[in-house]
Amino acid sequence: MEPKIEWSRTRKNLFFKCPRAWYLRYGYKSNSTRSRVPSFQRPWDLMLRAMKETLLDRLDDLKEGKEWSSLLVEAQLKSSLQSHLDGSVHRVSEQTQNALLKFSQHRFRLLWRTRILQQLQKRRHAQWYVLDRSEPTQYGIRRLYVTPDLVIRIQNRWHLVRFDMQKSPPRVHDESEANVMVFWALNNDGFSAPGESYRLHTVGWRQGFWHCETFQPTSQSIKQSQQLLEQDMKAMEEISRYGMRNLSLLPLAKSKRTCTSCFYRKFCPGGENLELAKKEQAVLELSAHSLKARN
Ligand code: SF4
Repeated sequence: MEPKIEWSRTRKNLFFKCPRAWYLRYGYKSNSTRSRVPSFQRPWDLMLRAMKETLLDRLDDLKEGKEWSSLLVEAQLKSSLQSHLDGSVHRVSEQTQNALLKFSQHRFRLLWRTRILQQLQKRRHAQWYVLDRSEPTQYGIRRLYVTPDLVIRIQNRWHLVRFDMQKSPPRVHDESEANVMVFWALNNDGFSAPGESYRLHTVGWRQGFWHCETFQPTSQSIKQSQQLLEQDMKAMEEISRYGMRNLSLLPLAKSKRTCTSCFYRKFCPGGENLELAKKEQAVLELSAHSLKARN
């Protein structure tokens, strides 16, 4: 049985960095049967996850009228980081752990001062919700992870907000990636509205600052996002089918950097020497083609 392919920004990013790593992680088995792999993410990425978790917990409490002291913020960041590191394959020294904690505290402090979060603290908006991004959205025949982190009603409009604890430099498809939040809203009765009426916000850390970007979707930009998403998913399905036929010919990582934090590097020829593995793969591919041509 073919695995069901699901779309999320994390999956997409991994797919474009290394189709083989994506296949082993997401394309090989369906979600229901895929065993949970230990966390192979770099300690830095685990620190970002700890920040995100703490942010959502703090927002949940804010919604209920509970304010956190700075000591509580520190304790929550520390305990979340600790629990992520405990489940990680990486071992980090106490010194590194303390340094990670300091980074997260600094970013978190500045994040809490961003305009969107300030407005919530000052109770400017009566209707807002913190959402669980791990909940999938069924959109047509597709299962997508496109839920925003936060939804706020401002002057009869829904504002959909996503927080990126570390943002890459601006890219052409930033807008289309923000647009996917609309698919979640259109699929949820309480938030459904004409596509053009939403406001989309991404709040991301880049080069020492939190950058807030706002997008106004149009019916055309939503359609384009849907087409791009379909293209991604078709490419993923193709790689998934290809991987089932011949794992050794699946494209390897574009950059060595991806391999350094890859869980599969011990069992992957690319993990040792990516360039050499690519050359060997090209030879394998050539002989597979000539065998096929002879038959
Ligand atoms: S080790 Fe490198 S090439 Fe191999 S699966 Fe991981 S990222 Fe891809």
